[in-house]
Amino acid sequence: MSVSSEIIRLRQLLPPGVKLCAVSKFHPVEAIREAYDAGQRCFGESRVQELLEKVAQLPSDIEWHFIGHLQTNKVRPLIGKTTLIESVDSEKLLNLIDSESRKAGVTTRILMQLHVAREETKFGFLPEELLDFFRNRKFESLTNTHICGVMGMASNTDDETRVRADFAEIAKVYRTISEDSSLGLRGFDMVSMGMSHDWPIAVEEGATIVRIGSMIFGERS
Ligand SMILES: *Cc1c(COP(=O)(O)O)cnc(C)c1O
Repeated sequence: MSVSSEIIRLRQLLPPGVKLCAVSKFHPVEAIREAYDAGQRCFGESRVQELLEKVAQLPSDIEWHFIGHLQTNKVRPLIGKTTLIESVDSEKLLNLIDSESRKAGVTTRILMQLHVAREETKFGFLPEELLDFFRNRKFESLTNTHICGVMGMASNTDDETRVRADFAEIAKVYRTISEDSSLGLRGFDMVSMGMSHDWPIAVEEGATIVRIGSMIFGERS
């Protein structure tokens, strides 16, 4: 299947209200352009240098989501280039994004990455850590960062029960935070979860953003 036919097929399958982030990491700008011509506007990248090179070559109405582990020495060049940094995995990184955004005079929209999968990436907040972050109102010190929701990955396994439980846990942490009116959060409404092999389960469990790469663009080399 071509990139454009996969984009069109996915758009028909996704319920309204679920945003498709087309994960274009390691794929050339020509592939992104083909998706763009099929109407896709949101793309996900996992390396800062690669994202900056693609931003420079592609139309300015693209929404770029950063989805990879962000090293602190790469924060400054990324600020102002993304619509959403989905992968904020530590308070240190969050505070650095905030201070660099303040210096640049911009507000950066981010998601807090949760670590629920058993054997996958080691990055992200444990559910209790993230709940403590909000209970302790640590978001109040941020001046130039808008926390829009949470992002997470399920365990990389064929065991659908395990995958569903991981997504359900991410959604539960999200709801615990978003339904706590004492926090006074505004615009905390995004749950990014689900990739090529598990997105239908993520949607059933409450995803509002799915991040799909290889299903659209083919295998990465
Ligand atoms: C690469 C990546 C994806 C997309 O994975 P596919 O299996 O190619 O759909 C989604 N989320 C994150 C965080 C990724 O690094």
